[in-house]
Amino acid sequence: MRWETLSIPKNKIQQFARSNIETPEKLVSTWPQKHIDRTQLTPILTDQAEETRRVVTVNKVFYNSGKVSRVTAVVTDKDTGEELKVIWWNVYKNHYNQIYGLKGKDVLLCGLVKSNNWNNITELQVSNPSIFSEDITGNLHITAKYKSIKGMSEEYYQSVLQRAYSAMVPIHDTLPTDIIQQYGLISYQNAVQQSHWPDSQASLDAAQYRILWDQLFYYAARVELNQRNMSLGSPYQLRYLQLFKQTKDSLPFQLTADQESTVTDILQTIQSGMRVNALIQGDVGSGKTIVAFLLMIAFAENGYQAALMAPTQILAQQHYAKLTELAQEVGIKTAFVSGKKLRKAEQQALNDSISSGEVKLIVGTQALLSQNLQFKELALCVTDEEHKYGVNQRSALTNQAAAGVHVISMSATPIPRTLAQAVFGSTLQLYSIITKPPGRKPVLTGIARDMPAVYTYLRHTVQQGHQAYVVCPMIEDNDKMEGVESVESISKKYISALTPQGICIGVVTGRTKKEEAAQIIDDFANNRIHVLIATTVIEVGVDVPNATAIIIHNAERFGLAQLHQLRGRVGRSSLESICCLVSNQKDNERLQAMCNTNDGFKIAEEDLRLRGAGDLLGTAQSGIEKYLTLALTHPVEFQQAKEAVQGMLNTGNTCKLLETAIADTAAGVVGEMLIE
Ligand code: ADP
Ligand code: MG
Repeated sequence: MRWETLSIPKNKIQQFARSNIETPEKLVSTWPQKHIDRTQLTPILTDQAEETRRVVTVNKVFYNSGKVSRVTAVVTDKDTGEELKVIWWNVYKNHYNQIYGLKGKDVLLCGLVKSNNWNNITELQVSNPSIFSEDITGNLHITAKYKSIKGMSEEYYQSVLQRAYSAMVPIHDTLPTDIIQQYGLISYQNAVQQSHWPDSQASLDAAQYRILWDQLFYYAARVELNQRNMSLGSPYQLRYLQLFKQTKDSLPFQLTADQESTVTDILQTIQSGMRVNALIQGDVGSGKTIVAFLLMIAFAENGYQAALMAPTQILAQQHYAKLTELAQEVGIKTAFVSGKKLRKAEQQALNDSISSGEVKLIVGTQALLSQNLQFKELALCVTDEEHKYGVNQRSALTNQAAAGVHVISMSATPIPRTLAQAVFGSTLQLYSIITKPPGRKPVLTGIARDMPAVYTYLRHTVQQGHQAYVVCPMIEDNDKMEGVESVESISKKYISALTPQGICIGVVTGRTKKEEAAQIIDDFANNRIHVLIATTVIEVGVDVPNATAIIIHNAERFGLAQLHQLRGRVGRSSLESICCLVSNQKDNERLQAMCNTNDGFKIAEEDLRLRGAGDLLGTAQSGIEKYLTLALTHPVEFQQAKEAVQGMLNTGNTCKLLETAIADTAAGVVGEMLIE
């Protein structure tokens, strides 16, 4: 369906598009960010994060013009008689007329109540209430909330959603009737409708279960289709392992037992003529990279090419530098491929060196997929931090190579082995690197509110010759969010507290230009910058062993796995390291889990436990990470979905979802389930 059919103006279409809602179908099939249960009134909750819902009588209404115009209503609680002031800021005069019309009437008031102290008189105040309406029963229900869109009111979003849905019904089901009946699901249309306008908690739960089931079915289909492609053997075998051994012996350290057995086992799998499809999982800092590097060198030595793809420019560059150092020693050529625009001659030379086979080892970002590279004999594809990619980005790399290419993924988000079996079946070889390199100490982790103590600690750290990271949530100053500071404002504070002592500070955000960011990271890696302030761009993979402290601001806003990843930036040498979680939520379960353990496997289990399906369906998280987490948190349903997929593939039956999965697999795109 086109937006124009619904008479949506251009500027609104653009606003939707900027929030990744490209079509009315996408709008209707987007699961709300959250649901607020307004079925019950509450007591007056003062100074809390939860909204208060009361029936109140409107007594007085007045308007103040001036710099910040406002409408104020003085109301009394129907039950308790308590007086509250309700204020709408920055509103036009006609808003006053609307509110004035409610004078003397009973209304439903929903909003956050704050107590204000004026000259020893305490006053209860509600700013910009979410509901102030005569329709009391009509507003006491479960309400869906959506991610806010810049420039668009909630009412507008709702009205477009209503119209889009009405124009689309009846909605064709995505699954066949027998599957729906067998697993006790509700219809797809019903689920969509209840997701936006739930009749009750029970029907919302049923809707969530149905959508969850669809997503698991889709993911199961993707896994199954990939597995069917993967289970063939491989013609790429290794005859020589001289340079491989030489490189391994020249390392400044000995491989740990887990690293050693992973390398050996993968080599054996290759020798046996099987195709390697391995997931190497290990906690942050466990040393996964060197395993991949050594195998890549073995392939190069045998005349093949090997490619390594990393999710960020920073990480790709770091891998490239380290791999090049090793490869040069044994006379193997490497190349770097990024999204950066090169001069025509340079690009040509790069392409030629790869297509002629002169370069054996290629490291890059996702640009490895998008640029029209011709490989000579690509026999091994490695993806680092594979959970960061879309479902099929990594298989797209594989598809670029001839059939039988070996595939290795590395991930720091561990999956318990039994679940991995259920999700991936037997075609995936799972390796876990559990013991860390010798001498690593656990990172001391604590929650802090007091910034002066943090500054003192950092001065001490830098005096000792060590370095620190400071991480902030991805928020800009103009995105005002209550209680969350932006990188801009945080870095100002650090600069004024630390630069007078000669401490050098670098700042990287998502908006910093690629080259500039690379320069800053390089300066940090070489200790020309002592304190690096950044958004989560440093989350994956960055390896600067001299950094011994990480300060994470508004730590409560990060997911558990993400916090653990961030903490993994320190504790990468035998030095004592600390992780300081700055937050005023002392009881936050995720922060507590961080303080209690350093073990990535335990963190992963806890993370799965704390995440409900609603949370997952409603977040922006996308791609493989979301599907995988859903599968891991719902192994039973995933197994059912998988059986349904297998049954349909074997009998030749089909349905909308299976066809979408087949088309997405062929096209190598991240799937988005849309209704038609
Ligand atoms: P991750 O598993 O998080 O990707 P890396 O591969 O980046 O971890 O390794 C972390 C650090 O540990 C690197 O500096 C690497 O050189 C070092 N390292 C890897 N293996 C060993 C080892 N066996 N002994 C000592 N240091 C090691
Ligand atoms: Mg890594």
